Amino acid sequence: MSKFVYSFGGGKADGKAQMKELLGGKGANLAEMANLGIPVPAGFTITTEVCTHYYKHQKKYPAELEKLVKQAVLKMERIMGAKFGDASSPLLVSVRSGARSSMPGMMETVLNVGLTSKTIKGLIQKTKNERFTYDAYRRLIMMYSDVVMEKAVGVEPKEGKGIRVQLEHEMAAMKREKGYSQDTDLTAEDLKKLVEIFKVKVQDILGKPFPDDPIKQLWGGIGAVFQSWNGKRAISYRRIEGIPDDWGTAVNVQAMVFGNMGDTSATGVAFTRNPATGENKFYGEWLVNAQGEDVVAGIRTPAPLNEATKNEQNKHMASLEKAMPKTYRELDKIRTNLEKHYRDMLDIEFTIQEGRLWMLQCRVGKRTGTAALNMAMDMVKEKLITEKDAVMRLSPNQMDELLHPIIDPSAEVKTSPIAKGLPAGPGGASGQIVFSANDAVEWARQGKRVLLVREETNPEDVEGMRAAQGILTGRGGMTSHAALVARGWGKCCIVGCSALDINVREKIMKVDGKEYREGDHLTLNGSKGYVYAGELAMISASENPRFVQFMKYVDKHRTLKVRTNADTPDDAKKALDFGAQGIGLFRTEHMFYGKNSEAPLFCLRKMIVSNTEEERRRALEELFPYVKRDIKATLEVMNGLPVTIRLLDPPLHEFVPQEKEKRAELAASLGIGPEELQKRADSLHETNPMMGHRGVRLGVTYPEITEMQVRAILESTAELIQEGKRVDPEIMVPVVSEVKELDDQRLLVERVHKEVCEKYGVKAIKYMYGTMIEIPRAALTAGKIAETAEFFSYGTNDLTQMGFGFSRDDIGGFVPAYVEKKILPDDPFQILDQEGIGELIQIGIERGRKTRPDLKVGICGEHGGEPSSVGFCHRVGMNYVSCSPYRVPIARLAAAQAAIRDLKGKGNAKKNVKRKK
Ligand code: ADP
Ligand code: MG
Ligand code: MG
Repeated sequence: MSKFVYSFGGGKADGKAQMKELLGGKGANLAEMANLGIPVPAGFTITTEVCTHYYKHQKKYPAELEKLVKQAVLKMERIMGAKFGDASSPLLVSVRSGARSSMPGMMETVLNVGLTSKTIKGLIQKTKNERFTYDAYRRLIMMYSDVVMEKAVGVEPKEGKGIRVQLEHEMAAMKREKGYSQDTDLTAEDLKKLVEIFKVKVQDILGKPFPDDPIKQLWGGIGAVFQSWNGKRAISYRRIEGIPDDWGTAVNVQAMVFGNMGDTSATGVAFTRNPATGENKFYGEWLVNAQGEDVVAGIRTPAPLNEATKNEQNKHMASLEKAMPKTYRELDKIRTNLEKHYRDMLDIEFTIQEGRLWMLQCRVGKRTGTAALNMAMDMVKEKLITEKDAVMRLSPNQMDELLHPIIDPSAEVKTSPIAKGLPAGPGGASGQIVFSANDAVEWARQGKRVLLVREETNPEDVEGMRAAQGILTGRGGMTSHAALVARGWGKCCIVGCSALDINVREKIMKVDGKEYREGDHLTLNGSKGYVYAGELAMISASENPRFVQFMKYVDKHRTLKVRTNADTPDDAKKALDFGAQGIGLFRTEHMFYGKNSEAPLFCLRKMIVSNTEEERRRALEELFPYVKRDIKATLEVMNGLPVTIRLLDPPLHEFVPQEKEKRAELAASLGIGPEELQKRADSLHETNPMMGHRGVRLGVTYPEITEMQVRAILESTAELIQEGKRVDPEIMVPVVSEVKELDDQRLLVERVHKEVCEKYGVKAIKYMYGTMIEIPRAALTAGKIAETAEFFSYGTNDLTQMGFGFSRDDIGGFVPAYVEKKILPDDPFQILDQEGIGELIQIGIERGRKTRPDLKVGICGEHGGEPSSVGFCHRVGMNYVSCSPYRVPIARLAAAQAAIRDLKGKGNAKKNVKRKK
């Protein structure tokens, strides 16, 4: 038989901190504190298993529960020296919810349970405090009628008609009548009257009397907490946080202690260190003569815990340190002990009853990225945690926060967004809005900070996107052009902000009926997708020497290499600064977009609309120097680190100009008429270009395209070596589905290699020849492909596209609904689908390495910088991941964390996986 009830108090407990699944976070930590000898009011925890049982059995408890609760109440009574429901020395309890992972404010708690007409008298005698007793009673009626009698039974009152609000009205009315300003002004006599009014109201509104039986109150409270697990708020919170519905909540029943018994009583909440900055100072708030919920509810302004952490708002108020020095010292000692024990920053709740300190809760505290970093580094120095622990203390998302300027959080809380979109590029940005890429470039040149607002962006906007501080689009998803480009640059970007009504011609956008014109200021929070009117202050958290040291720890514990996707020497340099160990994807076609692309693009276009091999070769010859220049410069920057250069991939039709003048110019250069050009362009049209004439298929049909690129790569390499530089090129063939395609191209590569060797008078030029695995068939036939390919690079964008049969550019219409309906857990283009696409990856690696044990394997899709996907890549034994420069530190952290987890939980590690150099 399972144990359903766990007691704690009096210096010991049945449970402990590790039992969160069973006891919930609150119950497990209450037990832990009791075991540590920290003063905790006695009580017991009803396990989460009871909750699951309750929902499985038409809301019935296990048969033995009643008896177990009775026994636990007896134990609690003995420790506390008072009796629940007793007329002379009554014990009151709180009934508190507590799930495995904290769901702040989502579930219910009822205080002062056990006050009845019989026990009231006893409590008055015992405390000699009538006012306090009636105050506790009115609180009980308010909480209980709201939580147990209304919410738990599913009564859904109209807005503002809930029982709690109505009782608050009564209380306010009484205060008004008497001319009081504070709740504390109410006298015992007032409160005595008020509770009678409350009882009548409860009967009137809810049609039931307020229960006058302590046992009934107790079970009402227990049931209400279980019910609150399936309350609306709790359900939607779980959805957002990804907490499973079947975890259930525990219920904690705990002897009440009172912070509202006069001026030697108080209550407060605190963090063992500052959760915003990480500063090693005890930080918190307290209220004299108050009950716990008052601090959070903001009824009174709380005072600072100590002198060292006073701020502008509370500097005139007495700190606990000054007001109750002895109790403060005791609390400070508990703080130290708890930190030593938990080896982390904690968030604690305490209450002081007539000078005596009681701890009511502790848990690992939430913190900002900056605080997480500072605390982790401090704690290593304090020898509280190891380097490995430190690496685990910063989540990859928090790292993201550290790498970008962000909106000053204190400015952001004071305002609210005018619109919300998808958080496509991290950090914050503010500036004047412009509606075209050209304007963005022009305004930026004049030294203005601009935000580029577009319906959606296309490759022709890149210059403007580059020049802007941030990008905001009305359409598009997380993998739209704007999103991809912005993330690549680490630029703040919000896409798919459908509330924007953009009029490009008038240079106006409307949001909610309000107009914003060119030059108006907006501020974007790209991490959340929030758009604000006006200019909010920014802060930058970079250049922190601690960050540098932290990254040293990270690199020490990681085995997976991290490369970058970079197409220009500039990006390559930036990525090196971020710690990239090579380039996993260099796209030659990049030179055809953006700055200085005019000339090479023209050559490319000529090549595309060429009709004969001869025409094509002429155009390719013109194009060659541009391609070579780019490749050479990038290889040089990378200084001997591996650089994977992908051969031309996109469908050529994409590059055919649409504008009339451009077309005329092109026709003239080829000596053909406009009709002929039109004909040739039309012949390139494809119904399904992403599955059409692209990738290796171009190389098979037009070998001269491959030849030109390979020549550029090998000549660059030869020249750099002769200049005394180090180079490590890898030639990568895209969109391969069959090994013979690779064999076909290999012959070309070898022939060009021979020619280049002759030209430069060398015996051989070192390079690797490999392929992208981005078509399911390639993954399945990886054993054969590895006979020719020396390396694999998983192109998970296409592999996801072709594996799911989801067109990447068209997912906006259905994937959000899939995620909403939980048909898919996430957008598979953002978070690798480990189950299906991951299986293809694993099969490919296994079969590939069977043929070629030293096969080098990496990933170059968007997923290469997504933390959970990076963890997957580590586990399946890849050699490296590759991602955009700004994501390199995040991938480094994710890789280190995966390696540390691997060591810890050897159980789920793939032992048969070998990682090859
Ligand atoms: P939450 O999970 O929403 O924080 P809690 O169960 O912690 O809810 O209860 C809210 C507040 O009620 C606590 O912060 C504490 O101040 C007060 N409280 C709960 N139980 C007791 C108790 N046994 N004695 C005194 N105060 C209590
Ligand atoms: Mg709490
Ligand atoms: Mg691809």
